[in-house]
Amino acid sequence: MVTMEKVVSLCKRRGFVFQGSEIYGGLANTWDYGPLGVELKNNIQQAWWKFFVKDRADVVGLDAAVLMNPKVWEASGHVANFNDAQVDCLQCKSRFRADHLIEDTLENVKVEGLSLTDLDKLIEQNKIKCPKCGQAKFTKTRVFNLLFKTNIGPLAADSDDVFLRGELAQSMFTNFKNVLNTSRKKLPFGIAQVGKAFRNEITPGNFIFRTLEFDLMEFEYFIPENEWEKHFDYWMTEMEKWLDTAGIDRSRTRIRQHSEDELSHYSKKTADIEFETPFGWKELYGLAYRTDFDLKNHMEKSGVDLTYMDPHTNEKFIPHVIEPTFGLSRSVLMVLLSAYHEEEVDGETRVVMKFKKNMAPYQIAVLPLVNKLNDAATEVWEKLRTSYSTDFDSSGSIGKRYRRHDEIGTPYCITLDYETIEKDQAVTVRDRDTMKQDRIKITQLDKYLKEKLSGA
Ligand SMILES: [Zn+2]
Repeated sequence: MVTMEKVVSLCKRRGFVFQGSEIYGGLANTWDYGPLGVELKNNIQQAWWKFFVKDRADVVGLDAAVLMNPKVWEASGHVANFNDAQVDCLQCKSRFRADHLIEDTLENVKVEGLSLTDLDKLIEQNKIKCPKCGQAKFTKTRVFNLLFKTNIGPLAADSDDVFLRGELAQSMFTNFKNVLNTSRKKLPFGIAQVGKAFRNEITPGNFIFRTLEFDLMEFEYFIPENEWEKHFDYWMTEMEKWLDTAGIDRSRTRIRQHSEDELSHYSKKTADIEFETPFGWKELYGLAYRTDFDLKNHMEKSGVDLTYMDPHTNEKFIPHVIEPTFGLSRSVLMVLLSAYHEEEVDGETRVVMKFKKNMAPYQIAVLPLVNKLNDAATEVWEKLRTSYSTDFDSSGSIGKRYRRHDEIGTPYCITLDYETIEKDQAVTVRDRDTMKQDRIKITQLDKYLKEKLSGA
């Protein structure tokens, strides 16, 4: 399995992901997507939107504000329940999540559902040491809320406190009536959204796997209560199909059901799709049955009727909800980990990112063999540039350029040589995975590439 070090280094070297605020020494757990990273991320996001929204008759989209009325988060239970238990090292002042500290030190200890006193006891009795400085002296465990707080207006008073959203779901619930009335959808139907969420938590790092701000793709699927199991199973199957669409290695994924005591306060059943990363099996996607918890709460606290009337029976009820959640930043990492391959070619190691062709940052690179051919190559490039995602690369030896495009996963490299202009008006097209080369007439190039890239 590829190490994280190799992937992080490739991401920086080739412009996928940079450390946030790097010239000022960085800011913990923030990362910036570079020219290739943003293309990869956009490709995943657009493919997700097509798969779960555009290609379906029963899901519609939403793009809501990050800042919401604080009453939303009171109603949702996030102000009361969205917490981490944390301890500080008395020696070096480092802060840790109590559950991580215990589980990383003691094998086979599950801390889910334990009280703060129990957590303190475990840390004390086992003389757990600070991973940073090695001392075994901690503060008592304290609870911190994970919502990021900020305020509106220049003269901030407590009453102006607002939160950056901790999840996307709530805006789908608060807009339930708006969407229902304007889209004229009937149950079952879903509201989908892609956007940023924020959690003020202590993270163990692991590159873009867990960050304070992160991109989510998710939808709330509204159903009658008695159909929840059927829809839960259906969406798990669709989520697994999506793994193939995105190019996430299925042989490194598994499904894990949450036990009773680790269920969130709003959920009756939850299952995760986990991915085997270099730092262990980790949650990639989640599927939760949220019951009618959210709509019921918002209906009670806002006083607005959020019931649905069945057009056949005229029965009024609060819909129940199945929620598939997909981390977009996580998807980027798992796609990178799945795509990474090292191969021996002529005694040398070739690093090649075997992205699905529609996920690759560039689909095509145009390479003039020598600089004298730049004008002719530019002409070819201009014909392709608006139809495909392309790069023009004229620096370094042709071998170096092939290696560069293998490393960023460009499926096809088009090379112009002297014969192109002097003899056959044709180019060489090199396939990233097989390294085989075809000679194609420039007039046939568009047709050839369309066929190669369709069904990608
Ligand atoms: Zn310490």
